[in-house]
Amino acid sequence: MVNSIIEKIEAKRAGENIPRQHLGLSEIGHKCPRWLWYAHHNTPSKPIEGRIIRLFRTGNIIEDAIISDLESIDIEVTDRQREVEIVNGDIVLKGHIDGIVSGQLLEIKSASEKYFKQLLKVGYEKWNPKYKAQAHVYMVLCDLEECMVVVENKNDSNLYIETLKLDRDYVTKLLIDVFAAITLPEPPERICPDVSWYESKCCKYQEVCFT
Ligand code: SF4
Repeated sequence: MVNSIIEKIEAKRAGENIPRQHLGLSEIGHKCPRWLWYAHHNTPSKPIEGRIIRLFRTGNIIEDAIISDLESIDIEVTDRQREVEIVNGDIVLKGHIDGIVSGQLLEIKSASEKYFKQLLKVGYEKWNPKYKAQAHVYMVLCDLEECMVVVENKNDSNLYIETLKLDRDYVTKLLIDVFAAITLPEPPERICPDVSWYESKCCKYQEVCFT
């Protein structure tokens, strides 16, 4: 009975998921150019499990809670989920910001205890290059010079807050590299030496990449 309930929930949530059909701005910091190419070219990927969909939902719930916490101390959050985009010829890359607070972009994340401890050691930008890319590109698109990142530990609800300063040179290089990769006629070289490589094992394009 219990197992069948869990299986039904997982199947239901997995079935409701609509896979993203394009490369999103939140993903352009992915370290693999081939991954970026697959995402931009709408390549079929491994379906996302229902459990992971529910994990994303938990992230959204935490985001709402943090915004409520900020507002509870009279920090106004505007522009929630505002769409931003980069247009380059016929390519349009879109994303959604978490919000704007006091003239700063707002980025909210959540992390497991183990991952949160890494953040405390290295700081936001070294902690997750994808998150770094997302924050800096969004700052440019919102014409903002700073970003307040708020990360919540999912195990004990501890908060981490850091202010990032916009690095325009970094964004320029990032976008040049991203557009160079996604506009190639064929997928770029693999970064994984073989299918058993650790980054391949958790890649949603593993199958197509090594077929
Ligand atoms: S399997 Fe490795 S090389 Fe292939 S797309 Fe994924 S990360 Fe890139």
